Amino acid sequence: MARGNVVAMNNLVYYLDRPSGNFSAVIEPLPVPGPGEIRLRTLRTSVCQSDVVIYQQGLSRIKTWPAIILHEACAEVDQVGSGVVKFKKGDLVGLGCDIPCGDDSCIYCGNHGTGDWTSCPNTQATGHEFPGFARSHAVLPAWFVDCGPIVKFDADVSPDHICQLEPIACGLEGLTRVNNCIENRVVVLIGSGSQSTYALQSALVMGARKVILVNRGAERLERVLRDFGNERVVGVRWDENVVERVGRECLPFNEPHFVMVNASAPAAYELATKLMGYGTVLDGHAGVKGAGGKPRIDHTIDLNNDIHYKLQCYQATHGSSMYGINQAHAMINGKKLPLLDRMTNSTERFGHSQIKKAIERSADSDSLKVIINWDRA
Ligand SMILES: [Zn+2]
Ligand SMILES: [Zn+2]
Repeated sequence: MARGNVVAMNNLVYYLDRPSGNFSAVIEPLPVPGPGEIRLRTLRTSVCQSDVVIYQQGLSRIKTWPAIILHEACAEVDQVGSGVVKFKKGDLVGLGCDIPCGDDSCIYCGNHGTGDWTSCPNTQATGHEFPGFARSHAVLPAWFVDCGPIVKFDADVSPDHICQLEPIACGLEGLTRVNNCIENRVVVLIGSGSQSTYALQSALVMGARKVILVNRGAERLERVLRDFGNERVVGVRWDENVVERVGRECLPFNEPHFVMVNASAPAAYELATKLMGYGTVLDGHAGVKGAGGKPRIDHTIDLNNDIHYKLQCYQATHGSSMYGINQAHAMINGKKLPLLDRMTNSTERFGHSQIKKAIERSADSDSLKVIINWDRA
């Protein structure tokens, strides 16, 4: 096989030495899974915008360098330890980023917990506290195998789709946190990057009446409209008349029903609040963070006239739990997102030795989803 003996008998691990640094390839002995553990062979990793941030400036959650980053992964179960019944060799799996803390008795992450991992004070994430998938093989501990975000796919599902499980799951957490706000409703997505493009595809599957994409730059908006648009989708350039133009697109309604902030800028939140009307749900999906920390974005709400009488809902989603992972799994495994291949064009595909180039491409303003194929260097 083309992968050769080096990989067959060893683990190829790419360590990022420091933010803005270099990835060095290290050949390590292939780890053997213990009781309850499984070993995965990485097939694809896709690049998240958080990987771009980690690469460029680091992340306070990553305490030790060098680090193994990348969390959006599709893998094949390569070997199972004793006692594992959930998985067998050859299973095709996808993984989430937010993971349980590993404590069986945790009220959030444990076997009888709520599953709200991101609420746990000891929450971890792959590619942050827990090593990521910038490696040819990974052994998952028993608690990850038992409770973690790892789901099996049918053998005929494309690994290129499976590696996008986690970002799709995050978007679905936002679209479904409040019942009944997408089907037959007018949806506004602020920003036209990958999160909005996943939300667009998901909202159409969920029966949205209309999806209005709002973006400043023309290049990416045009790409998304061309490749993912249909008669239920319109694009609106974000200029000084944006509120009025979005309002016109909502007709015969006076306002959108759902507004998702997928651009991590205070201006996106300010725009979202101006679009709130009767029954509107605002999902603050992209957090805003800069070199100076997390800025305060003030907004005054009349709890009686806005929240009560206008039935408005202000929510936020961030990351994904099994709830979102299971929904994304159903969409991908059920082949409900047939346009996913258009997220990644020929300039957005790389081999495993090109992680740095892949992340740089991901930072471009026209890029949607960069995929790293671990079957080629
Ligand atoms: Zn991600
Ligand atoms: Zn926990």
